[in-house]
Amino acid sequence: MAIERTLSIIKPDATKRNLNGRIVTMLEAASLRIVAQKRIHLTMAQAGVFYAVHKARPFYDELCEFMSSGPIVVQVLEAEDAIAKNRAVMGATNPDQAAPGTIRKAFALSIGENSVHGSDGADTAAAEIGYFFAGLELVG
Ligand code: ADP
Ligand code: MG
Repeated sequence: MAIERTLSIIKPDATKRNLNGRIVTMLEAASLRIVAQKRIHLTMAQAGVFYAVHKARPFYDELCEFMSSGPIVVQVLEAEDAIAKNRAVMGATNPDQAAPGTIRKAFALSIGENSVHGSDGADTAAAEIGYFFAGLELVG
C-alpha cells in the first residue's frame, strides 16, 4: 500500500464546541500524520467552490452556509492508505449510521453538521489539498 495524502477538515460545529484536540487525537491514533494544518474562516463563495461537486444537491446552500458559519481547521493527513484510513475513522456521513468509535459517532450533531470532512479518492484529495495549501506548506 502506497503512502498517500488526504485533505481533512474540522468543521464549524466542532471548532465551536472546542473539539479540535479530541478530533486530532483520534486521527493520530489511527496512524494519520498531520503534515499541514491551519485555521481559516471561509466565505460563502469559497465554500461553494470547495463543494461545487454537490451544486445540484438540495442541501448545497445549507452546506455552504454551514461551512462558512465559523472557523474551520484544514489539514493534510499522511499515511499508508490515508484516504480510506481517514474515512474509516470519520465514520458514515449520517451519525445515526456511524460505527462506534468513529469521530462522527462521537461528535456529529446531524447529517449536515457532522464535524469532519475527508477526501473520497486520490483525484479529489490532490485537488482539495491544492485548494487550501501551497507545496511549501506541506511538511512531511
Ligand atoms: P461525506 O462528507 O461523508 O463525504 P458527502 O460528500 O455525501 O459526504 O456530502 C458532503 C457533506 O454534505 C456532508 O459531510 C454533510 O456535511 C453534507 N450533507 C450530505 N448529505 C446531506 C443531507 N442529506 N442533508 C444535509 N447535509 C448533507
Ligand atoms: Mg464527500
